[in-house]
Amino acid sequence: MATLIDGTAIARTLREEAAAEAGVLRAEGIVPGLAVIVAGDDPASAVYVRNKTRACSEAGVHHETITLSRDVTTAEVSASVEALNRRPDIHGILVQLPLPRGVETAAILDRVSPLKDVDGFHAENVGLLVQKRPRFVPCTPAGIMEMLKRSGIAVAGRRAVVLGRSDIVGKPMALLLLHADATVTICHSRTPDLAAVTRQADILVAAIGRPGFVRAEHVSPGAVVIDVGINRIESRETAVELLDASRLRAFEAKGHAVVGDVHQPSVSGVASALTPVPGGVGPLTIAMLVRNTVLAARLARAC
Ligand code: NDP
Repeated sequence: MATLIDGTAIARTLREEAAAEAGVLRAEGIVPGLAVIVAGDDPASAVYVRNKTRACSEAGVHHETITLSRDVTTAEVSASVEALNRRPDIHGILVQLPLPRGVETAAILDRVSPLKDVDGFHAENVGLLVQKRPRFVPCTPAGIMEMLKRSGIAVAGRRAVVLGRSDIVGKPMALLLLHADATVTICHSRTPDLAAVTRQADILVAAIGRPGFVRAEHVSPGAVVIDVGINRIESRETAVELLDASRLRAFEAKGHAVVGDVHQPSVSGVASALTPVPGGVGPLTIAMLVRNTVLAARLARAC
């Protein structure tokens, strides 16, 4: 059976490290500050924001949430971003996605000062990452690299396959693996004979948003499988297919569950190591956000 990689424990260590760095800054009179803009009433966003708030508080990072209504305009969200860009006590700005329909996401992300862009989505930070001169690296792939390093999983010289090509996860993930000297392949919805490609991976990262999509036949024996997916399931039929007995009992009680992109019961019989969902990549994403905010405060001090 595959070893389960404990993302919660690694994230705790990362948050403690960030808290120690924040403490050094506070001793100099600088309190790292993060502002999160939330527009609309997406329930998943509310949960993410709550988790981010808690992680910031624990690390001694000031946190505030700017809540905008569902019918906000692009100009209004832009104005909020601009106001935060000007505030010296706010070092990091995060625009919680998805934004309400009608708001131009790219235009808003372009407005965030690249020196406060703790999500690493601004074109300037993307360019720096491509050139291997990273400033802010998107939190989920950055967290996965920390997870691999701290779990003693070698990357250099190995074959990595990234399933998914989003700007938030797939593309930056592939770049980070490439910069760590893996030989990298990116797959997407138009990749033919997907299983033949993913079976070549020593390290397989699944980020497609399809519950339990990656099965044993996609995985080479002994591969390391990183499950990025966060998918809410409500159908009992799907739950029976994807969950083990104890999680199925919890599903019966609550009527829903969160699962990854990997079919954990079958893949755990083939892979050497696997990240669980929940408790795998998710906590690392939040820890890296805290770390990026502390980095932003350090950069502001240096300016
Ligand atoms: P996107 O929807 O932006 O991208 C999904 C990608 O998967 C696309 O590139 C798409 O291909 C590809 N894809 C979809 N279906 C298939 C398929 N059947 N075969 C092959 N490729 C496919 O998703 P994100 O990258 O934003 O998120 C992916 C997952 O990760 C989601 O479950 C999300 O909730 C989760 N997530 C988790 C985070 C965490 O902290 N753990 C953080 C961010 C995301 P194409 O480009 O061709 O359409």
